[in-house]
Amino acid sequence: MLCLGIESTAHTLGVGIAVKENGRGRILANEKSVFTTEHGGMRPRDVAEHHASVAREVLDRALEKAGVSVKEIDIIAFSAGPGMGPCLKIGEIVAKYLALKHDKVIVPVNHCQAHVEIGLLVTKAKDPVTLYVSGGNTQIIAKLNNRYRVFGETLDIAIGNALDKFARSAGLGFPGGPKIEELARKGRFVPLPYVVKGMDFSFSGLVTELERKLEQGYRLEDLCYSFQEHAFAMMVEAVERALAHTEKREVLLTGGVAANKRLQEMLRVMCDDRDVKFLVVPKEYAGDNGAMIAWTGIVMAPTYGTKDITAVKSMQRWRIEEVEL
Ligand code: AMP
Ligand code: MG
Repeated sequence: MLCLGIESTAHTLGVGIAVKENGRGRILANEKSVFTTEHGGMRPRDVAEHHASVAREVLDRALEKAGVSVKEIDIIAFSAGPGMGPCLKIGEIVAKYLALKHDKVIVPVNHCQAHVEIGLLVTKAKDPVTLYVSGGNTQIIAKLNNRYRVFGETLDIAIGNALDKFARSAGLGFPGGPKIEELARKGRFVPLPYVVKGMDFSFSGLVTELERKLEQGYRLEDLCYSFQEHAFAMMVEAVERALAHTEKREVLLTGGVAANKRLQEMLRVMCDDRDVKFLVVPKEYAGDNGAMIAWTGIVMAPTYGTKDITAVKSMQRWRIEEVEL
């Protein structure tokens, strides 16, 4: 079973190819082109234009890398949401064109589920509590009664967005996460707002306070360090409670922010304390990518696969809880 997957929910246009043989999954290609801008902000229309202009080239690269032709592919999968409307539309159109032209099964894939499924494939985790931390999403996800459920999430902006926002205010450029991580190594602790409400958390008040303290002349290194300590502790606290509630024995960390060594360290300490296994998705598969859509296309084909392209569409607000497993 060969599946070609297209990712286009946000900044990344990705095309991946996955195969399942003898019950085992493997990634054959994972090509991408990422929209970037000097000024930080992402206007959905500009991003969609980027995706449309590179789609053909990224598709060709993926097929060449995998050494297969479109004819050999069994399933075409696309990231159907959640994401930015105009960007989603590009992936949907390319997928529908390919499915129609080559008479293939098409599978709409939930982007958040795809982050979890590729995490399971590459780390061999079985049934984890997943912390998905990226530029657009921050969620704690686990499977319960054969459905993925969100056990905690941000009430406003995503953690990656919060890091990028503060970095922009501080003139650090984009993406801000790695620069904040670097500066944090030389920082000391400054108390900041710590906002956990039930199992959810919030970052925008924290960013506002950081910006205020920056204007007041606090050392940038201290603010970067304290930002990480507060924001990461908020998420680790909620993950720990999700573990206690679900009684799961694994934590899976994924998304672009998963690359942060301090976040990894804090989660590892918490997991070690509870005798829980801690797994980090490698960078290539942690950020948005086409391989995760291809692999999830194979996983979900029995449920969502169809040859009727009018039966599927992208959905800007498709939540992972709504996915029928
Ligand atoms: P994604 O949306 O999953 O592609 O992830 C992009 C986000 O990850 C951006 O907000 C980056 O600032 C953030 N990011 C990347 N590397 C790091 C890092 N080392 N520490 C913190 N955030 C990071
Ligand atoms: Mg993502």
